[in-house]
Amino acid sequence: MSVKRGAYSIWSLMRNALSYHENWQRAWRSPDPKPRYDVIIVGGGGHGLATAYYLAKEHGVRNIAVLEKGWLGGGNTGRNTTIIRSNYLQDASASLYEHSLKLWEGLSQELNFNVMFSQRGVMNLAHNEHDLRELSRRTRANWLNGIDSELLDTTGVKRFCPIINVSPESRYPVLGATVQRRGGTARHDAVAWGYARGADAMGVDIIQQCEVTGMRIEKGRITGVETTRGAIAAGKVAVVVAGHASVLAAMAGLRLPIESHPLQALVSEPIKPILDTVVMSSSVHVYVSQSDKGELVMGAGIDGYTSYAQRGSLPIIEEIMASTMELFPMFSRLKMMRKWGGIVDTSPDASPIISKMPVEGLYFNCGWGTGGFKATPGSGHVFAHTIARDRPHPLNQRHTFERFQSGELIEEHGAAAVAH
Ligand SMILES: Cc1cc2nc3c(=O)[nH]c(=O)nc-3n(C[C@H](O)[C@H](O)[C@H](O)COP(=O)(O)OP(=O)(O)OC[C@H]3O[C@@H](n4cnc5c(N)ncnc54)[C@H](O)[C@@H]3O)c2cc1C
Repeated sequence: MSVKRGAYSIWSLMRNALSYHENWQRAWRSPDPKPRYDVIIVGGGGHGLATAYYLAKEHGVRNIAVLEKGWLGGGNTGRNTTIIRSNYLQDASASLYEHSLKLWEGLSQELNFNVMFSQRGVMNLAHNEHDLRELSRRTRANWLNGIDSELLDTTGVKRFCPIINVSPESRYPVLGATVQRRGGTARHDAVAWGYARGADAMGVDIIQQCEVTGMRIEKGRITGVETTRGAIAAGKVAVVVAGHASVLAAMAGLRLPIESHPLQALVSEPIKPILDTVVMSSSVHVYVSQSDKGELVMGAGIDGYTSYAQRGSLPIIEEIMASTMELFPMFSRLKMMRKWGGIVDTSPDASPIISKMPVEGLYFNCGWGTGGFKATPGSGHVFAHTIARDRPHPLNQRHTFERFQSGELIEEHGAAAVAH
């Protein structure tokens, strides 16, 4: 079943202006769950919704449900600092993140929904010899993979971002940086809403306030899930729940090599445009950008303890502020407005798991940790392929669950940077 829906355009804007914008069509339906689906996707974040979209669009699967325990994008999708880039070290990750970046470049047109993708460049700073060597090695690896990356010296950093403090007197002087100009930011909610609207138009049932509480497994094969709205049968079940991946795996009797940690961010009061790029520093430990509303968006490293509470501790906030002051002393009199936390699913090699599981018909997509927002389109795209064909897409062939047994890790702690 597909749902007829008018495209968003200048004409629809004008038409709806005549009725004071009170008659816009709902962006997606709110159906009751059916007794059975061909594919159930657990988790209504960006990754889950993108998976549903590409499953319907590219693989012709129509009888799909996305089950979300809260509201769409209420998890990490709606809590992150939206940094997008593809300059990872290993071939297996660089090609996956670059695939995603290419999808971002056409996403607003693809979805007929403005995801506000802004290619304002992402700069990674170096503050010591080790940073310089790591960034230089990664830049060369990026070139070999056809990914844009530039190395800057201190003068180049100042030219690219004039408000940054490059004084040699500072505690961690800026010695250089890399820039990926095609990187940038996007509007997080819009990504979830755009994919939801697109998937719903192809007949995908998006069911909010529906928590999966158990899995039905018979003779080694998944047959459905139990939820707060009753049992639902399924041919295949795909789990994309970020920080709750281990909880869902335990329902299927599996143990994942994942730790769930709080990751926090905060925003300042809005000010006039002052920062037109994204600045990240893994040594001073902060990442900063300015939103279209004018707020400075700042992110931290993870809180050291494991937790499922979507908040973090105050010392981390203090650290972000100290690091921000180090790089941008001119922000010292800004007031901070809000802070929040999400629960991120960190894996031992800082790379995701996009994989079939030992239970037939069960698939997991997790382990994106602090850096999965940038991968939303690519992750959904390759995960849909994995589910539909029951084998990995060439781009996620190495991102298996079994790599933690074989030792074929995809080590990305350097490129994962301060947090992502
Ligand atoms: C503060 C912060 C800053 C970040 N900054 C960046 C960044 O700048 N760049 C970047 O690339 N990444 C960043 N990330 C990471 C990024 O947000 C995530 O990797 C990504 O959004 C994960 O998307 P997702 O769709 O898998 O997860 P989520 O958006 O978390 O979606 C998972 C959904 O599953 C649902 N769920 C859980 N359990 C159940 C259940 N039992 N039944 C039904 N539904 C369930 C949850 O409610 C949730 O909505 C950041 C994360 C945080 C917290």
